[in-house]
Amino acid sequence: MKTETISQKNGHQLNGFTTEDIGDDHLFTSLETPMKPNAFEMSNDEKKQRISILFSEIMDVLGLDLTDDSLKGTPDRVAKMYIEEIFSGLDPENKPKVALFDNKYQYNQMLVEKDITFYSNCEHHFVPIIGKAHVAYKSSGKVIGLSKLNRIVQYYAKRPQVQERLTQQIGNELKNILETEDVAVIIDAKHLCVSSRGVKDDTSATVTTYYGGVFNSPEKIAELQNYINN
Ligand SMILES: [Zn+2]
Repeated sequence: MKTETISQKNGHQLNGFTTEDIGDDHLFTSLETPMKPNAFEMSNDEKKQRISILFSEIMDVLGLDLTDDSLKGTPDRVAKMYIEEIFSGLDPENKPKVALFDNKYQYNQMLVEKDITFYSNCEHHFVPIIGKAHVAYKSSGKVIGLSKLNRIVQYYAKRPQVQERLTQQIGNELKNILETEDVAVIIDAKHLCVSSRGVKDDTSATVTTYYGGVFNSPEKIAELQNYINN
């Protein structure tokens, strides 16, 4: 019965691609993280309990002995890690609260915060995406604390993701918060689903970019690349 459901799903066509193609080629369907309308009806404690039960089932099916001292705490640990850490960015309650400050010094050049290390997870394989984000903006008269730029990156990284969406979500959020179109995001990341499985390419990295407002010109892009590479 279960096998039937899976094969039906795999046969389902989306713009000519099967769901298998979409996963293997890391295509994605929307800029918003696809969420159920009732995603937050269950409390976090209930979610942890459910995930723990379901994860023990996966381990059990794999043939692992859940009475072993080393393994028996794993389902609870995974559940806690999913909800409180690596997928905590699904919950809007965890979105960083950002205060804007007046740009006292009238610094109206670009500000670049580079090499923000992040850990995310591929939504197609649930294995890590590890990378660096570089974000830049030109103040519209308001500035935010540098640590907030980092927190915004981390919030959107803590979801099942595709790199293009992560880039866009960070860009859109910065635009909204900073009340300017003049925002840029560059992400350079390694996908463990590409290096450790599938094509087993250990050397490739994926670069995605978002250039808004003044950043969307060849000169500004070159200037930005220059800051990031130095
Ligand atoms: Zn993947």
